[in-house]
Amino acid sequence: MLARKSAVSWRTWQNRMTFAAIEAHLRQKCATMPIDGRSFGRRMARCALADCRGMCCYDGVYLDAPHEAAIAVIAQARRSAFAAMGLDLPDAVVVDGFVGGVLFGRKTATRPWAAKEAVPDFPEHFNQTSCVFHLDDGRCGLQVLALRDGVHPWAYKPAPCWLFPINIHSGVIRIFDETNDPSRYEAYKGFVTHTRCGQTCAEGKSAIEVFADELRYLGDIVGRDLIAEAGAQMEGLPHLAPRPAPQHTPAHPTDNGGGNPP
Ligand code: SF4
Repeated sequence: MLARKSAVSWRTWQNRMTFAAIEAHLRQKCATMPIDGRSFGRRMARCALADCRGMCCYDGVYLDAPHEAAIAVIAQARRSAFAAMGLDLPDAVVVDGFVGGVLFGRKTATRPWAAKEAVPDFPEHFNQTSCVFHLDDGRCGLQVLALRDGVHPWAYKPAPCWLFPINIHSGVIRIFDETNDPSRYEAYKGFVTHTRCGQTCAEGKSAIEVFADELRYLGDIVGRDLIAEAGAQMEGLPHLAPRPAPQHTPAHPTDNGGGNPP
């Protein structure tokens, strides 16, 4: 007879199964999606939470249906674990999101956040709010929970967050820059290029080096060598040799990932 799972391990199993559905969704979505390798040649730098405090989480993250289902499950099943981190989650952690007064999609809920006190050069056009999973020190509660459960730090985190600033929502795997940031409107100056890790950094390294862990993790899920694919398009830039085995412990397990631009 099978041993009965404890309540905690059962919930953890349920969470893992739910997030396995997201990986299946990513495999289907990105199996043949082209990658803009040249966008990974821009000089960039990874942010430091002590400096940026997870500013890219100010508006939460837009979610597709599999992500919404998974986030709703984990928020309900692990409410007490989030409370122990200091996150008093609202009943509805996923809500309608609006851009210019028009319904844009479903997204994580936000709460007021004194962002300008936390980040002195916080962009004027960003609201002083944060995702309901955002901890005061800038970490993501979903990532903290994954670490506590002993699973991959990004296992519970929405893909747009752990991939950020890499974008997969325009039908191409790429990083938008100052010339094509898609979130620029008359009254909004842009999103990705106004975050620390989305800006061009003259002293930085090529994005393929900076975000190699993200490309490798996505590649492991979808069964592609995205570093090699991007590198092949980057004439004159250093080509990173792909690692043969999947990496399950990123070198930056406390790094955050950002919200999805409106
Ligand atoms: S990383 Fe994503 S889910 Fe986590 S706090 Fe930021 S926006 Fe929210």
